[in-house]
Amino acid sequence: MKLHIGYFEGKIVPVNLNILVDPDVSHFLTMELDQHLMEVFPVTNIDVLESVKLPITCWNKSRRQYNAHCLLAFAASHNSSGIVMLIFSKDAFVSGLNFVFGVASRGVGAVVSIYRLENDPGFLKKEVTHELGHVFGLEHCTLPCVMTFSNSVWEARLKSSAFCEKCSRQLKQAF
Ligand SMILES: [Zn+2]
Ligand SMILES: [Zn+2]
Repeated sequence: MKLHIGYFEGKIVPVNLNILVDPDVSHFLTMELDQHLMEVFPVTNIDVLESVKLPITCWNKSRRQYNAHCLLAFAASHNSSGIVMLIFSKDAFVSGLNFVFGVASRGVGAVVSIYRLENDPGFLKKEVTHELGHVFGLEHCTLPCVMTFSNSVWEARLKSSAFCEKCSRQLKQAF
């Protein structure tokens, strides 16, 4: 996979973020997302491409969930330039976990499921910020921070929606 991070030989290069949305995700949820992401991340352009049909090959029949890594590979291949973020409506898993809110690959992109986000735009914003934090090189954080790992919807609800000082600094240093 190609790296699309916006830093090359000491210079910042424009970063495109392509947001793919499956048709069952309400517009109400994603309305203010691009503005928020432009403020938080070193992203210079955002394209929102709606109506992306999820590939049936990523659906796990017995678990009745999508394989999040499979969806990430699909999203990355769908994407020609820049970082990709796929937002979708169905529940997702990775092997070893009952469910995931999303997964990310550094420098490539991420996927986020709205399935457990209680139809709350603020909750979606938080999870998208967390996954994009991974894309831009951040690890899980133990301080009050959006990069805290959450094991449950309860924990995810409680965690901060902003980066702690340490993660903010690291994010800025990366660019
Ligand atoms: Zn994480
Ligand atoms: Zn942090």
